[in-house]
Amino acid sequence: MAHEFVVPLFLGSGKPETADIALFGVCWDGTSSFKAGSRFAGFAVREASFGMEEFSFYQQQSLLDVKFCDYGDLFLPPGQKERVLADIESAVKEIRAKHQFPIAFGGEHLVALPLILAAYEEHPDLALIHFDAHADLRPDMWGDTLSHATIIGRAADRIGFENLFQFGIRSGSAEEWALMQRHKTGHPFTVDALREVLEQLGDRPIYLTLDMDVLDPSLYPGTGTPEPGGLSWDLLIAGLKLFKGRRLVGMDCLELAPHYDPSGVSAITMAKTLRELILLAAGRKR
Ligand code: MN
Ligand code: MN
Repeated sequence: MAHEFVVPLFLGSGKPETADIALFGVCWDGTSSFKAGSRFAGFAVREASFGMEEFSFYQQQSLLDVKFCDYGDLFLPPGQKERVLADIESAVKEIRAKHQFPIAFGGEHLVALPLILAAYEEHPDLALIHFDAHADLRPDMWGDTLSHATIIGRAADRIGFENLFQFGIRSGSAEEWALMQRHKTGHPFTVDALREVLEQLGDRPIYLTLDMDVLDPSLYPGTGTPEPGGLSWDLLIAGLKLFKGRRLVGMDCLELAPHYDPSGVSAITMAKTLRELILLAAGRKR
């Protein structure tokens, strides 16, 4: 009798050699200022993925019809921030050099910085779309300029604030509020507002960074800094569907600290969001 040993990778993951889309975990939480624990996202999301269908009712497409692979979690030692950011940068550059579309998931938002900047290096006309409850525009957090609370500011320093489009933001400091007003980066999270921005962007390359705490904590409590007043699942899906056929060049889906949600629904919600992101990547404009 033949036996098959199953490596617990994301549901539907195929072979890396033939993959067009590369999923990988970046599960590190070294600057979490409140409830740490997103370093544990990888296992929780992969386990949760086994409870879902490959087929998406929302996009009428199945993961089984898409060439994607899950590389597993990048090894990111606790602490050692500079090393971690450099390792993420070299990993994502290697993936991009193979012409695979990167979708990173898991940890605190700071890990998105090298992911966004790698996309920007290839696409100097990059637009950054940011879904989050928090502005993440602080100049520093307790003197540290590189943290989950400063990541979008550091990305905007490089790509330009005029190329940043923020949705769902409902928390930040007075300084962040002023920055958002000055640069007009904030938009209401409505289907109409998002559609308008995407239409303005036309064929410009888009990087989507998705901090899952943009969702309401009643749906998604498993996160480091939950913020009441967030999105419903239906609104997130309606928003994501607008990205279909757009010129996406990279995505991430972050901030799952699974142990704060003993029901497991937060991990399931991230797994299902990743299914939608993989399908969007497959249908991207090239
Ligand atoms: Mn964030
Ligand atoms: Mn956030």
